[in-house]
Amino acid sequence: MIGKLDTSSREAAVIGAGVSGLLAAYHLHRRGYRVELFEAAPRSGGMIQTVKTPYGIAESAAHSFLVSRPVKEFFEEVGVKLAPLNPDSKARFIFRGGKPRKVPLTVFEGAAAVRRALFARRHLPKGLSYEDMSVEEWGELFLGRPAVDYLLSPFVLGVYGSLPSQLSVQAAFPSLPAPEGRPLLGSLLARRKLKKLEAAAEPPGPKHRTAMMSPLGGIGALTQRLDEILTAELGPRFHKNCPVDKLPDVPNLLVCTDPRSAGRLLRTESPELAERLEAAEFSSIVSVTAVLDRAKFRKPVKGVGVLVPPVEQGPCLGILFNSSSFKGRVLDERRHASFTVMLGGAVDPGFVGASDARVREAVMRSARLLLGYEGEPVHLQVFRWERAIPVYSPALLKTWKLAERAWCARPGRVLFGNYSAQVSLRGLVESSRALPPPLA
Ligand SMILES: Cc1cc2nc3c(=O)[nH]c(=O)nc-3n(C[C@H](O)[C@H](O)[C@H](O)COP(=O)(O)OP(=O)(O)OC[C@H]3O[C@@H](n4cnc5c(N)ncnc54)[C@H](O)[C@@H]3O)c2cc1C
Repeated sequence: MIGKLDTSSREAAVIGAGVSGLLAAYHLHRRGYRVELFEAAPRSGGMIQTVKTPYGIAESAAHSFLVSRPVKEFFEEVGVKLAPLNPDSKARFIFRGGKPRKVPLTVFEGAAAVRRALFARRHLPKGLSYEDMSVEEWGELFLGRPAVDYLLSPFVLGVYGSLPSQLSVQAAFPSLPAPEGRPLLGSLLARRKLKKLEAAAEPPGPKHRTAMMSPLGGIGALTQRLDEILTAELGPRFHKNCPVDKLPDVPNLLVCTDPRSAGRLLRTESPELAERLEAAEFSSIVSVTAVLDRAKFRKPVKGVGVLVPPVEQGPCLGILFNSSSFKGRVLDERRHASFTVMLGGAVDPGFVGASDARVREAVMRSARLLLGYEGEPVHLQVFRWERAIPVYSPALLKTWKLAERAWCARPGRVLFGNYSAQVSLRGLVESSRALPPPLA
């Protein structure tokens, strides 16, 4: 979230009712603001939608997220039940040398990466600061090439759809940079100690370990519930089918759209920022939920998913094992299993325009190679995202800084979305939950 509220006033307008706008509107309303919420589309939720198919559910965008204590408390408050990962299906795989592996590095590569990460004192190359440093450069310095290729790159591609060379380490992983000249181990231990101190200062409550979860009925259960609450409580102040083309003059204005729309809205008030927002880069992704026949696998597939490192030049970015990870993803658990195959991203940006036949062919090649599937698909649900996930590049970092100095410098001017320093649902929930109440 960029910018701060003007807590001297209770008036607030929220533009955009994707998950960011819904979360912002919900928390502002709960804190005592008088909220007016505007959504351009006939439905709220933005990119998030849980589609019901004849075989089970298919997620259009987010599938799961890390649930910290504040996120858990928020879900309890709104009454959306969370499902943890199935306890016997927590394995994660990386594709290397033609098969999925739990440990993708050789013993020698692993030992070298651990030694380098934990004990070597690193100095940034002359003239390079963390602000300009890419995730790839950081990885090469602290982990070495094999770990960049087989741990960092597939992880980064799986979360952002981008390559580590495109991302700024400061923007994408702000907790990673280690102080100049110190080994990573020292800074990681210091951070752990700080976390422990923070946890000790928290009010006592049941112990909670941050873990990957998803709502029981899919992510759409969250946006649907927030929509229900806001429809009931804001009444006519929740406007759907109502695109905003001119910024309303209110003390608190939260622009919760995608950055391109935010830029269009800010053209008059802050032209330089508007231009940067409109130019924000995105990765494109084709996400396909594939329902497959359990009888046609060479052996049962269990775990969270498999990621494909770009160096392996595989047929996809990775596959999520939906029904192995969470209950309730398919209607007939005995016969069917659900997977999400991610395609395109930075390794094949043009794939978003591929024909349906090419998408099907890529999905089935991925299922054969990565899952050992030898049958035909039972059902495929295809979602194409030309602008899927923001590229957390050095340019985006500069946009945040400009926003802080420009439009967001005035209290009551806030930019909030998956591009404003929190890409995941966890980050969006935590930042909206931290919004302060009005002073009076
Ligand atoms: C394939 C894929 C997989 C993903 N997986 C995960 C995952 O597993 N975990 C995770 O945490 N995240 C994941 N994400 C990311 C997550 O889904 C998004 O970050 C999130 O949904 C973005 O929400 P948002 O509200 O910021 O933006 P949007 O959903 O884009 O919402 C913006 C809203 O603003 C509205 N709007 C725009 N202009 C105007 C205007 N002028 N007036 C009024 N309204 C306007 C739009 O109609 C829209 O409803 C994934 C994304 C994709 C594409």
